[in-house]
Amino acid sequence: MISNISYVKEALGELKAKKKYGQNFLIDSNIVDKIARNACDADLTTIEIGPGLGALTEMLLKYSRDVEAYEIDKDMYEILTRNISDERLHVYLQDFLDADLSRYTEKVNICANLPYYVTTPILFKIFESGLDINRITVMVQKEVGDRLSAQTGSEDYGALSIEVQYLYEVRTEMNVSRKVFYPEPKVDSAIISFKPIRERNREFEDGFFTLVKNSFRMRRKTLYNNLKDLYDRRAIEKMYRDLNLDGNIRAQQIDLDTFIEIYKELGK
Ligand code: SAM
Repeated sequence: MISNISYVKEALGELKAKKKYGQNFLIDSNIVDKIARNACDADLTTIEIGPGLGALTEMLLKYSRDVEAYEIDKDMYEILTRNISDERLHVYLQDFLDADLSRYTEKVNICANLPYYVTTPILFKIFESGLDINRITVMVQKEVGDRLSAQTGSEDYGALSIEVQYLYEVRTEMNVSRKVFYPEPKVDSAIISFKPIRERNREFEDGFFTLVKNSFRMRRKTLYNNLKDLYDRRAIEKMYRDLNLDGNIRAQQIDLDTFIEIYKELGK
């Protein structure tokens, strides 16, 4: 079992966990098993980002048809390919942000204990890829998890929450203590899963996500003030009347369905 402290220390040997790559290794095999069991299907490929020493990889192999893993750090790549020999595992020594995902034509699962410094770009790369996704399961910092699953009116609710919740059913599977990592990070984490709920429509999404981002441009301003210079004023006023919106409403008070209605009224 890779996910235990003595294995991790021995595998690292002289090496130190690299902060610049967000290296915090999982050392609790119960947690790792739980993540992998939820994330995988026996007849599907799982894509892993940042396999590191292989704690999660080992379990993903147990529950998936095969595993495609992307690792940026050559030291990790060498340890991993030396210590796990399974022909169902393919490891790429590559920054995931540069990975060509068009090679995957079948439905896939995605699972990762994400490096903290690059969580949002990685998530957006996945969301905006044309991948046919069955399920995404990722470990993220708790505060990122809070933003992803935030509900209307809460402090964490913003453009990221709306975009993600438009595309996926987002669930916090469990909160995870910082104690299950080596080295121990300064914050706790959460396992979040995403299940697609929409037919993708690029043109609609581009316009809709732009409207959402514009609506949150200045959080303290009213929706009207954030939109008034970007969209036709008469269309905005008609939209307020049609949807019966209070003139002082702010973006964080508006739910996803109402945002969709607003977009339909204002168009691009
Ligand atoms: N999966 C291992 C585990 O759970 O023990 C390691 C997780 S560690 C939080 C993040 C891993 O992502 C590290 O192995 C790091 O080298 C790798 N990594 C960091 N940035 C990356 C990137 N842009 N593309 C691919 N891998 C990356």
